[in-house]
Amino acid sequence: MPSETQRAHRSVKNKNLNPTVTVTPRGAARLRGGHPWVYRSDIRSTTDVEPGSVVTVLDQRSKPIATALYSSASQIAVRAISPEPIASREWITLLRKRIADAVALRRRVLQDSEAYRVIFSEADFLPGLIVDKYGDYLSLQVLAQGMDSRDVRNAVIGTLVAELAPTAIFERVDTRIRELEQMETRADSLLWSRDDKEASPKTSFLMNGLRFQFDAAAGQKTGAFLDQRENYAAAARHASGRALDCFTYQGGFALHLNRVCEQVTGLDISRPALEIAEENWTLNKGVFASREIEWIEANAFDLLRDYADRGERYDTVVLDPPAFAKTKAASDKALGGYKELNLRALKMLKPGGKLITCSCSFHVSESDFLEMLGSASADAHRPLRLLEKRGQSQDHPVLLNVPETHYLKCVIVEAV
Ligand code: SAH
Repeated sequence: MPSETQRAHRSVKNKNLNPTVTVTPRGAARLRGGHPWVYRSDIRSTTDVEPGSVVTVLDQRSKPIATALYSSASQIAVRAISPEPIASREWITLLRKRIADAVALRRRVLQDSEAYRVIFSEADFLPGLIVDKYGDYLSLQVLAQGMDSRDVRNAVIGTLVAELAPTAIFERVDTRIRELEQMETRADSLLWSRDDKEASPKTSFLMNGLRFQFDAAAGQKTGAFLDQRENYAAAARHASGRALDCFTYQGGFALHLNRVCEQVTGLDISRPALEIAEENWTLNKGVFASREIEWIEANAFDLLRDYADRGERYDTVVLDPPAFAKTKAASDKALGGYKELNLRALKMLKPGGKLITCSCSFHVSESDFLEMLGSASADAHRPLRLLEKRGQSQDHPVLLNVPETHYLKCVIVEAV
C-alpha cells in the first residue's frame, strides 16, 4: 500500500504530467462510452497547450479520464489515445507498440495479398495516422496535428522499417486536411528509402492472385481501393455471364470478374483511371486467357439509362460509386442517388442476375442502405434475395463503439 504522502505525491505528479483539457459532461460521457473524440464545443477550458501535444483530459470535477492528442484547429479537438494517464515521453513507446500490434493483426487476418492497410487511424488506436502497404512500398498519411511532430514521424518511420522492411516509404498529403488542421504545407514526397536514394514511385503488387500497379505519385486515396479486397473475391464467387462494373476506377472489380465471366465491361467517368485499368489488364493477360475487357468512359447515370432503354441485359452488375454523402445533412439526397442507380441496374438484370452494390458513405448506415435497396426492388418489381451483407476488408478494422470506423457497405443480392 502506498503511504499517504506517496499517494499525494503521485497525484500531484500525475496532475502535472501533461497540459490539461477540461471537457463538458457530454464530452466526458463520450470518452467513457469508448469513443475517442471530443468536439471543440465540448471543451470547457484548457491550460497552455501546444498544437498536437499530449494532454490529460479532465471531467468537470477535475478527475483525469483519458490521455489524448490535442488539436488546436480541428473541430475534433481531442482524440483519446488511452483511458490511462500517460506522459508524453511514454506516448512514443506506446505508439511503437501499437504499430507492432497493428502489423500483427494484419498477419492474422490477411489472405492472399501483398497490399493492405497497415494502420487505420482510430481503429488501431493511432488517431490521425494511415499507412497502406503496396508490395514493398508503404504509403503514409498524417491527418491530425498529434501525428505530425518530428518525434512522432521519426518513431513511426523507424517502427515501420523494423516491422515491415519496406523498400521505400512515401507520404501522400491530403492538402485539405492539412489546411483544416493548420499543419504546415507539405508536398507528396519520398520519406525514406532502403538504399538512401530516390526510389521510383511505381511498383506493382499481387492481390487475390491478380497484379495491380501502384504509383505513389498519383491516384485517389493512397492509390487503390484496398478496403474492397475481400469484396472483389466475394463478387467473383457470385458473378457469371455478362458483367458490367459501373464505377470501375482502375478496374478493381472488373479484373476480378474477368476471371469468371464471359464478357466484362468497365465504366468510369475518368479517362486516366481507365487507362490505368487497361494497364492493369495487360499485367494479367496470362491469367485471363486473352479475354479482353471493354472500357467505357461515361457518366454511369446516363449510360445506365441508355442501356436500360436499349434493352441491354446483364448477369452481373457492380455499383461502387464515390461517397455521395460527405456530411450527415447530405445523406437523404445521397440515398436518392443510390436509389436511382440501383433501380436502373436492377432493370437490366437477367432473371437470376446478381447485383453487387456498395456505399462508402459513413453517413448512410447499413440499414438505410438496405431500406433503399428494398424500395428500389419494389419499384422495379424485382424481388431480391440477399446473398451477402459485407463491409470493408479486415485490414480496415471496425471498433464497435466508434461507428466512423465502419463506413463501407457491400451488399450482394440475386434478382429472383
Ligand atoms: N470500384 C473501384 C472504386 C470506385 S471509386 C475500385 O474498386 O477500385 C469511384 C469511381 O467513380 C472513381 O473512379 C470516379 O472516377 C468514378 N465516378 C464518379 N462519378 C461518376 C459517374 N457519374 N459516372 C461514372 N463514374 C464516376
